[in-house]
Amino acid sequence: MNIELQLCGLVMLAVFLVFIEREKKLNVKNRALFLRAFIVCIVCLVFDVLSIICIHEAVYDGFSPLITRMVCKAYIILLVTQGYCSFLYACLDIAIRHRYRIVRIFSLTVYFVGTALIIALPIDYYMDGRLVYSYGPATLCAYVMAAIYISIIFVFTLRNRSIMPHRRVIALFTWQGTWLVAAMVQFIFKDVLLISFASAFGMIILYSQLENPNEHIDRMTGLFTQNALSLYLNDRYKYSDSFAFYTARIKYLAPFTELDIRRNAVIRSARGFLALGKEPIFRIGDDMFCIVYDSSERAYKKLLEIKARADGVTDIPVEAKFIYFPDSRILSGTDEVFDFIHHYDDSPEDIVVCSEDLVQKIRNRKDIYNLIETALRDDRITVHYQPIYNIAEGRFTSAEALVRILKEDGTMVHPCDFIPVAEENGQIIRLGIRVFEKVCEFLATGEPQRLGIDYIEVNVSVAQFDHENPAGFVRNNIDAYKLDPGTINLEITETADNELLHLLLLNMEKLIKMGVSFSLDDFGTGRSNLDYFVNMPADNIKFDMTFTQGYFKNDRIKHVMKGMVSIVHDMKMKIVAEGVETKAQYDAMVKLGIDYIQGYYFSKPIPAQEFLDFLKSRRASA
Ligand code: C2E
Ligand code: MG
Ligand code: MG
Repeated sequence: MNIELQLCGLVMLAVFLVFIEREKKLNVKNRALFLRAFIVCIVCLVFDVLSIICIHEAVYDGFSPLITRMVCKAYIILLVTQGYCSFLYACLDIAIRHRYRIVRIFSLTVYFVGTALIIALPIDYYMDGRLVYSYGPATLCAYVMAAIYISIIFVFTLRNRSIMPHRRVIALFTWQGTWLVAAMVQFIFKDVLLISFASAFGMIILYSQLENPNEHIDRMTGLFTQNALSLYLNDRYKYSDSFAFYTARIKYLAPFTELDIRRNAVIRSARGFLALGKEPIFRIGDDMFCIVYDSSERAYKKLLEIKARADGVTDIPVEAKFIYFPDSRILSGTDEVFDFIHHYDDSPEDIVVCSEDLVQKIRNRKDIYNLIETALRDDRITVHYQPIYNIAEGRFTSAEALVRILKEDGTMVHPCDFIPVAEENGQIIRLGIRVFEKVCEFLATGEPQRLGIDYIEVNVSVAQFDHENPAGFVRNNIDAYKLDPGTINLEITETADNELLHLLLLNMEKLIKMGVSFSLDDFGTGRSNLDYFVNMPADNIKFDMTFTQGYFKNDRIKHVMKGMVSIVHDMKMKIVAEGVETKAQYDAMVKLGIDYIQGYYFSKPIPAQEFLDFLKSRRASA
């Protein structure tokens, strides 16, 4: 009997079914649909074999033709069912929730109408040696339906390939290709019954490429991986109303923990979490876990349970830090969950509870991120200049370059609204480069120098020094724009990080040798201290606006400022007072012995051309 290929396919699927059954399962829709298609494929193969046996028996031994026809019909109905299940599985990724419902309704209707037709229409069979098949209107109907499903899957995959994971596209095409080749071979060589084997083979391709669970299992702990969490959350966001979850991070209490101790802690924690219950547990970072629950009550109870254990989650000296998400609906989806985790990962609190307020903050940061990205892309980063008055010379000899973002609607965004975010997410590097290039471009015109400007002060965040060869970057620009290095003054603020301080000093040294000068910004705020001020090879110290204005409000500040002026001068440095807004403040600063004045009293920060006009008019009236 011509059933060898089918039996091979059947054995292959049976072996894989055992593997699938034994593995750790992640309960996602994709997987459920795949399993259904897999099992239908097995049953279909069984009925393929059964139908051939029945036809053989009916033709040679007078077995009941009615039962034979029924078995043949059952086989072709299963073939169509398999097409239907595969169709749903293939479309799941592409169609978003409401569209998926439409796709389901459509395919289900086609399925029921087709099946009813197959049941109603006549079928017959034929056998001659190894040549065996069923034929008639019912069989024709089944082939037409299978062709409909296959071609829609093909067109769907082709049209949506850009929004599907590449791997999925390849797997789906290989699977359909295998099936089509088999159908053609069987059409030409009618005694080579390849289609069922090809279906089984296709299932194995899908399993190994798309549904292989080992890709989602962490080898060290046996828990699910971060990728699996992404998949799982995507699924739950798509299909569940709400759920709760928390992340737990192990914090080692000893400052340096050896690798095998850390390993031990991770493995023990994994066991601790596994003992909590049946919910899926994910290891989403070296020392971080996530557990997802159906209800917030259970999630919080389990979180407290783990927290209540004297030593956190393991029996080595660690404690656990939690981020608790009581209601998944607060967040828009998986991406936002990961943004949130990433952002609050280092929070000092033991438990961070995800609230609407905190999520809003994340969204604002994301908006700012996008604002900076589009501004960089569309060249909407502009630099304003605030003139700085030199008291000794009685004229403006420098200016501070201050960045602004010009929004698409023409409004301006001030740096305090985006610099802190850019410093945190690293955009400051590209932003700083753009500002520096603009300042160089401005200086390269020679206009400011002709109007008496000796140098421009450019703000540099310390993070910009944690970047490959910052001194080299400055040098390259100075060379490219053919500038005198003395026309550049870099304003820096304090860093708490020793490693960064070392880098900063190293680069400062190189730049000073080149002829670039430095100012220490924000003096008198929380961002400066004496130690810093003593060790920094700066030419200028900039008194922050709060400090300058404090002079008029607080006698103690007045004393400190008086003392500072003589200390700074003894150290051969100059002082810039920022935030001078009135004539009275200006006079007081002059009396105090300040060297440079910057503030609204003279001018706000203004665009480059306005700044040049300002200098011209001041020279004319002098
Ligand atoms: P900063 O470097 O201390 O700059 C001085 C700030 O004080 C500027 O605010 C300036 O407009 C403001 N200011 C000056 N005089 C007065 C005054 O008389 N009254 C008042 N109310 N304000 C005055 P701005 O331009 O909003 O910049 C804020 C901060 O953003 C800067 O403080 C600086 O730390 C940062 N920043 C600006 N541009 C850049 C840049 O290109 N790179 C980096 N890393 N930071 C920048
Ligand atoms: Mg500054
Ligand atoms: Mg300042």
